[in-house]
Amino acid sequence: MSRGANWDILVLGGTVLTMEPGSSPIRSGAVAIADGRIAAVGPAEELLEMAPSGEVLNAGNCLILPGLVNTHSHLAMTVLRGIADDLPLKQWLESHIWPAEKEHMSREVVRVGTELAVAEQLLGGVTTTTDMYFFGDEVCEVLVGAGMRGVVAESLIGFATPRCAGPDEMLERQRELIEAYRDHHLITPSVAAHAPYSVSAADLVREAELAEEYGVPMQIHLAETRWEVEKLLADKGMSPVAYLADLGVLSDRTVAAHCVHVSPEDIGLLAEFETRVSHNPVSNLKLASGVSPVPALVQAGVTVGLGTDGAASNNGLNLLRDMQLAALLHKGVACDPTVLPARAMVEMATSRGARVLGLDSRIGTLSEGLEADLICVAVEGPHAAPMYDPFSHLVFAARATDVRHVMIGGRVVVRNRVILTLDRERVESQVRALSEKIRPS
Ligand SMILES: [Zn+2]
Repeated sequence: MSRGANWDILVLGGTVLTMEPGSSPIRSGAVAIADGRIAAVGPAEELLEMAPSGEVLNAGNCLILPGLVNTHSHLAMTVLRGIADDLPLKQWLESHIWPAEKEHMSREVVRVGTELAVAEQLLGGVTTTTDMYFFGDEVCEVLVGAGMRGVVAESLIGFATPRCAGPDEMLERQRELIEAYRDHHLITPSVAAHAPYSVSAADLVREAELAEEYGVPMQIHLAETRWEVEKLLADKGMSPVAYLADLGVLSDRTVAAHCVHVSPEDIGLLAEFETRVSHNPVSNLKLASGVSPVPALVQAGVTVGLGTDGAASNNGLNLLRDMQLAALLHKGVACDPTVLPARAMVEMATSRGARVLGLDSRIGTLSEGLEADLICVAVEGPHAAPMYDPFSHLVFAARATDVRHVMIGGRVVVRNRVILTLDRERVESQVRALSEKIRPS
């Protein structure tokens, strides 16, 4: 760092949580951004002494931390928010979600549903999202237009989707998406297989080979319900995790969503293959799938991040709220308040989430040289006073509506709670009009 530093933006005035291992909060801190990357982090007075050029983003009375990372979602399912509740997964999927998707999920609907998901997540401090759904190219266009980071895949499943006639076409669309978005600054193309019970063994292997060929993440739902475990035991004689391990599908590229019904042997396999796990507590609770043994996974050395799942099984994309719920849930289940302490939960929502998606060399901490994805969370209002410990505050007291500014790759996309890159009101009214077609009132 030198005097007269040439910075594009100085985020100034709050308490900085870099989320680097062992780091302490920097009170009255600042983060300097140049060329989309973090150029300097430190006490505000030190950075100001360097007489920087560039814009100042006022983060007074804020916590400044890495943007939240949502490791599992189906973005366009926002249009199905609340369409069917109080049902178990199998009935919910087969009688409600899959028929509604078949009838309504066109390219245009995916576009507006994804826009709504982007708006909701940006305002809630999520800077990186995942998507496994249909019309992945359309999803990528929406994310790039809004300046949001995403790990995106066209979904592979053993029957026709609104876009593709069958697995061959799905794999082809996946390959096209990977080719189109390799080395993109915001989009990480991915592959995604729906689940061990809904994709054939041969297609699971082809999917893992495609991920390996291009070095991209492979998303999959895994061990979500007791039904799935019983089905795999009956059909294959193995648990879902053991089945994927046996097929040679598990690796450190695998992003396994849920992992609710996993045995100690399964946890051993996930650790051995360095498989990443996306914990989706709200979806698992709402569908009564169960509770993932996250403390045991973490104890075994498995990298666990947080996910919302789609808005039809959540019914929001509010990762901050889900982090708070996860913290409480595992303490209650374990009857142990020391389980998953506050700082570990904030890591799960930021740096660990980045590692789950294979993005930890680019984002996840506020470290010099990394891409500048950060959020400023205001510590204001009766619910936010006083604040003794910033990690405790984020996990037990903060609200998504406290998110004031959001920056992705050095670009301010939300300023003073206004999205600068997307017309939120237009999107909301389009989705409301659409819901009248999906289910006329
Ligand atoms: Zn899901």
